[in-house]
Amino acid sequence: MTPGQRLRQLANVLNATTPLGLLLAGCARTRVRRGPRGLLIATGYRWRLPFASAFTVGNVVLFRAGPEEVLANPVLLGHEERHCTQYAWCLGLPFLPLYFLAAGWSLLRTGNPGSRNFFERRAGLQAGGYPEPGPGSRHTIRSSETERGMT
Ligand SMILES: [Zn+2]
Repeated sequence: MTPGQRLRQLANVLNATTPLGLLLAGCARTRVRRGPRGLLIATGYRWRLPFASAFTVGNVVLFRAGPEEVLANPVLLGHEERHCTQYAWCLGLPFLPLYFLAAGWSLLRTGNPGSRNFFERRAGLQAGGYPEPGPGSRHTIRSSETERGMT
């Protein structure tokens, strides 16, 4: 791990988001394993919410998929890792209301919670499965995008 990755790991433990992510992963009966760069990978998430195939709480990245599928998709893991960093920059829990505000703003502007969402844009829209909106266009969500929607 780089010094920055260690600092992120420590910050997300101290700001309580990684413990919260582990609690959620445990309650949802996922399998948790150590991932690269200080990440914790929880697989087999089955709860209905959120409507996403992957999401992140602190340094814990939760996936609906199994471990083989997750490790075969480093692009998505890289996207979720950027959210880990965003948690640290937001000092932990403030990330969540800020994220939902950004998602609401994006939804109003584009019809999609990611396309104009500051956090998703910084994490990489394409890597997260979000469409890049054209200038002034209002994006319509297709069912295929909803199914593979990610946070
Ligand atoms: Zn995302």
